[in-house]
Order: sequence, then C-alpha cells, then structure tokens
Amino acid sequence: MSCLFCQIINKEKPSEIVFENEKVIVIKDINPKALVHLLIIPKKHIVSVNEVEPEDRELVGDLILIAQKIAEEKNLAGYKLLFNVGRKGGQIIDHLHLHLLANK
Ligand code: AMP
Ligand code: ZN
Repeated sequence: MSCLFCQIINKEKPSEIVFENEKVIVIKDINPKALVHLLIIPKKHIVSVNEVEPEDRELVGDLILIAQKIAEEKNLAGYKLLFNVGRKGGQIIDHLHLHLLANK
C-alpha cells in the first residue's frame, strides 16, 4: 500500500489542494500550527531529506521556488520553511514535505 501523501497525490484520499503541477502538489495541513500552514510535497516518493539524491537537486529547489511564489501570492509578511527529518526530528509521514508556516 502506498503512503498517505502518495494516496493524496493520486487523489485516492481527499485533501485541500492549493497548487499542483507535474512534479509538486501543495496542500493545506489538516492540523494547522499557524494561520497559514501548507505542505509542499514532491510527487516523487522520497522518504526524507536523508534520502534526497543529487538527481533530486532541481526538484528540491522547486519546493523553495513554489514556497516563494505562494508567499508572494498570499502577501505573507514573513514565513517559516521546515523539513522534519526522521522520527527524532519530528517527522511522522515518511514522504518528503516542506512545511510553510505563516501568521500573515
Ligand atoms: P511531519 O511531522 O513533518 O511528518 O508532518 C506531517 C504533517 O502532515 C503534520 O503537520 C500533519 O498535521 C499533516 N497531515 C497528516 N495527515 C494529513 C492529511 N490527510 N492531510 C493534510 N495534512 C496531513
Ligand atoms: Zn509517498
């Protein structure tokens, strides 16, 4: 069985999609820890930052550029970007995702 985020990417599970292109999907976090809490998720199943390969360089860069674009569109005054890595780093879902958090 595929992971939760792969199921969301494949539209087998519902989510609130904010942005989507061929390689990346952005959804609202189901349990927001800030006024704006989005998850920027590559469609490729990469377990965590620890499993990123040199060939993923451009894809990982895209996550930041998409964060920047959304922040601009939403007129965010400032924001935080966060990768939790591994259980002890607070990662619960083993599919790479960049948290975008802002309080407007
Ligand atoms: P992490 O702790 O970095 O693995 O973050 C996982 C995040 O996914 C948490 O902030 C959860 O609230 C969020 N989450 C879990 N299930 C869902 C879901 N079905 N839709 C959207 N966000 C989710
Ligand atoms: Zn996955």
